[in-house]
Amino acid sequence: MPIYKAPVDDTLFILNDVLGIERYNNLPGFADATPDTVAAIVGEAAKLAEEALLPINLSGDQEGCRRHDDGSVTVPKGFKQAFDLYREGGWLGLAAPEEFGGQALPYTLHTAVGEFMSAANMSLMMYPGLTQGAIAAILVHGSEEQKRTYLPKMVDGTWTGTMNLTEPHCGTDLGLLRTKAVPNGDGSYRISGQKIFISAGEHDMAENIIHLVLARIEGAPEGVKGISLFIVPKFRLNDSGEPGERNGVSCGAIEEKMGIHGNATCVMNYDEATGYLIGAENKGLSAMFVMMNEARLAVGMQGLAIAEIAYQNAANYARERLQGRSLSGPKSPDKNADPIIVHPDVRRALMTIKAFNEGGRAFTLWTALKSDIAHRSDSEEDRQAADDILGLMTPILKGVLTDRGFDHTVMAQQVFGGHGYIEEHGMSQYVRDARIAMIYEGANGIQALDLVGRKLAMNGGRAVMALFKEIGDFCEENRSDEKLSGYTKALKKGLNDLQAATMWFMQNAMAKPDNAGAGSTDYMHLFGLVVLGYMWARIAKTAEDKLAGGETERADYLKNKLITARFYMERIMPETALRKARIETGADTLMALDAAAF
Ligand SMILES: Cc1cc2nc3c(=O)[nH]c(=O)nc-3n(C[C@H](O)[C@H](O)[C@H](O)COP(=O)(O)OP(=O)(O)OC[C@H]3O[C@@H](n4cnc5c(N)ncnc54)[C@H](O)[C@@H]3O)c2cc1C
Repeated sequence: MPIYKAPVDDTLFILNDVLGIERYNNLPGFADATPDTVAAIVGEAAKLAEEALLPINLSGDQEGCRRHDDGSVTVPKGFKQAFDLYREGGWLGLAAPEEFGGQALPYTLHTAVGEFMSAANMSLMMYPGLTQGAIAAILVHGSEEQKRTYLPKMVDGTWTGTMNLTEPHCGTDLGLLRTKAVPNGDGSYRISGQKIFISAGEHDMAENIIHLVLARIEGAPEGVKGISLFIVPKFRLNDSGEPGERNGVSCGAIEEKMGIHGNATCVMNYDEATGYLIGAENKGLSAMFVMMNEARLAVGMQGLAIAEIAYQNAANYARERLQGRSLSGPKSPDKNADPIIVHPDVRRALMTIKAFNEGGRAFTLWTALKSDIAHRSDSEEDRQAADDILGLMTPILKGVLTDRGFDHTVMAQQVFGGHGYIEEHGMSQYVRDARIAMIYEGANGIQALDLVGRKLAMNGGRAVMALFKEIGDFCEENRSDEKLSGYTKALKKGLNDLQAATMWFMQNAMAKPDNAGAGSTDYMHLFGLVVLGYMWARIAKTAEDKLAGGETERADYLKNKLITARFYMERIMPETALRKARIETGADTLMALDAAAF
């Protein structure tokens, strides 16, 4: 059976020591998040993940979801009971506003515990995950009445939510979408069309499902300028606000797919279903973007979560599996072979994943904290600065943590040799599950284009310049500290590569946009490498300070952090030069072949 131990200590170290969330106790919700409360919540989440979610992960993968002749869908055994525990524990509303039944605690904390739960059971956590996104969109764009009608039941998990963008002929290019909305004359609309690939589209775990659907109102302009967002409940609400008549929406099929078998990915048919407009007519895409941005951070976190559970199992296996002898002489002479963890190449894999996961955890929580500041601070200046970084980091976090998350899950599978390829150890499931995170919420190629095409130049490059300055200042401030200079030197080198690549785009992509597209994925990864490097430099500084301050209780943990930080700087950071070199070759060779020559 696969193992998983939620990284509680690491999470608390990042929250309390590296990010110092106590410093933010002037933000709404943060005063309640004292270190003791945070530790208690993180501990409870770990328990739920390890004891309730993990045991049904593999069986959920094997059993999958089932659609019945009447269109109803059942989830795998144990999912409903585990989801009941999740909602009864108030986890769905952890960071939601109190007026709708939430606890208004930091989103940062919600993100921290989300990693544990997604690692333990990604498929199951997608049901509340999509609900969170729908809640966010209704909160920002819904009317007061819509908020009162839908949010309390969604926040407590009685009802779940979905997002319906994709149609058979349109995924990335939403301007092509055809689902139509016809006014009923009473403020509601009749929604007709087909959506595909809808996660959590139909299931038997909630009383009602609140679908958020993009559609085109009759006569609306072509393209993305004519898209509106609608609430379409599975059951229409009666006068007392309870689920009543069945609406004209049904699951036509469950997609047969590579992974996340425990999540029902549905073809959804809308046949004159009653829908209610959210926000303004033809402004649906910006309303949906609230949901997508939130979801992109959550998907980046899924990449990290699956890489973490895969890593833990690989490390465990490497300590036990006996094969060959250490190059430097037997390490277990009493046995007929050494455990494979003695081999440098196996350690290369484990250290690479470990360095990315721990750095990625800091990156995820740092970004989540920016989201809290952007949404909760009473200082306009702080809100804007945090929102700038949040916007810039969203495609990087999603793209880099899911691309690398998948690569590293494969790397962890490799540690098992052939035993990773068969289903028994669960490694195959992690590889299959991790793969989707690179695709949904905008394929990673699109994240890279969002970064290069939109985010870099936004507000005259204000966000990117602020971040370059922050990282540059950190290097400068710590340059003369002998203990830190190794880290800051490597970080500065990476930052120089990133700045040079940014400059190259400014000089070469305006006149020739294909140069931007050709370098976008490398640029996204180059940026990610530098941001993770910044996280590692900050982790190293915190660890050095704690050790110098005489901290003994966590001395081994802190020393291990320093070793991993050094590994990141020596072995991973140099990749920035390769990425920069690729970017600077431009689009010529990529675009030279005739389409028929491929
Ligand atoms: C399991 C699963 C769950 C999903 N859940 C949901 C859900 O809940 N709700 C929902 O609405 N959708 C959902 N999706 C759909 C998902 O978001 C889309 O599949 C995804 O956005 C890509 O769209 P597409 O499949 O149509 O690919 P396409 O848009 O056809 O893209 C194909 C490839 O071309 C690239 N590409 C496309 N356009 C460009 C461009 N302009 N420049 C450069 N490259 C480009 C893309 O990066 C991609 O690699 C889900 C999909 C799956 C498989």
